[in-house]
Amino acid sequence: MRGPSGNGDAPGEWEFAGEWARRARGMLGGFPVEAAERASALIFSCYERGGKVLACGNGGSAMEAQHLAAELVGKFERDRASLPALALHQNPAALTAVANDYGYDDAFAHQVEALGSAGDVLVAISTSGGSENVVRAVLAAKEKGMMTVGYLGGEGGGGRLGSLVDVPVVLRASDTATVQVGHLVLTHTICGLVEEALFPNKAVFLDRDGTLIVNRHYGSDPDGIELLDGVVEGLVELREAGYRLVLVSNQSGVARGYFDEPAVARIHDRLQRMLDLHGAALDGLEYCPHHPEGAVSPYDTECACRKPAPGMLRRAARKHGLNLSASWMVGDIEDDVEAGRRAGARTVLVGSEESRTPPDFRTPDFAAAVRHILDIETVKDRSTSAASISL
Ligand SMILES: [Zn+2]
Repeated sequence: MRGPSGNGDAPGEWEFAGEWARRARGMLGGFPVEAAERASALIFSCYERGGKVLACGNGGSAMEAQHLAAELVGKFERDRASLPALALHQNPAALTAVANDYGYDDAFAHQVEALGSAGDVLVAISTSGGSENVVRAVLAAKEKGMMTVGYLGGEGGGGRLGSLVDVPVVLRASDTATVQVGHLVLTHTICGLVEEALFPNKAVFLDRDGTLIVNRHYGSDPDGIELLDGVVEGLVELREAGYRLVLVSNQSGVARGYFDEPAVARIHDRLQRMLDLHGAALDGLEYCPHHPEGAVSPYDTECACRKPAPGMLRRAARKHGLNLSASWMVGDIEDDVEAGRRAGARTVLVGSEESRTPPDFRTPDFAAAVRHILDIETVKDRSTSAASISL
């Protein structure tokens, strides 16, 4: 390979390529762990209270703001409910309109004023700590009662922003590029910690008719509930293994006019009482009363919750703080498998129904499904402890 001087005789000139890695290593050696934890805790409590995250910066810092928003809205390492976050340069029309009418220094502040609410967090990103439009965004955020985190850099205290924001996180490096590497690691740290804190639980989602109880065609009689073999014992074992138990059931009989929502509630009350007698009560019950070909308004509509859509699982994930990647869906038809897969959970198909979406496991009955889930958990625990020993 020819060197930068173009003469090809001086491969040593390429040695500078390693310099960026050396700088990054030096900076990461002093990574501000405690400040990153405080920033994560602030964002965690913002989300716990129903708030959102706004982020802003210029150039590479704009990309970091967008990166943070993307990981929060989508997912970082685990499937879970979406978290509201927005990078303030993501609307070029608003950005250029405000910049044109009021000047670029106010481009972010106006958006904070428009979009921010008390209790939200503004993440202000500036490697120098002095970008005027980011400083003004922080001042606007304070005015609105928002909390502020600074992604900062340099050898000092993070410049003007260092003394303005509630939590300054200063990456120690003298050059912009190396500070930006630290900001990337900071984004991953925050997303990982927030995700773990907000979504610590695992669940088994359970189809109702044909999986937990005998399937009676659009049955609505509480006295007609008959638990399938092995269900009570299986649910107790899953609960003891730390799983939340969440029913997810399509009840299109409501939309079709066969029974009403109070009738569904009566069935679910009875089911809960039957399970509770054995210490197997469910932690959540979700059902979908809709069907696009139904006859009863307002249920006669398409919806996001009717399986195979994952809406009921995602709703439960928000309510119960679920890590969907560590959760399972157990059901007896393809729609159950599809809903579980779309939510990011692993799936078990019980019984003999065909499924074009292949489940992770197929078992003849509920007891075998429970065995599979618990066996896999045991294998995972064993490999985790082996890994920690080898470390
Ligand atoms: Zn629905």
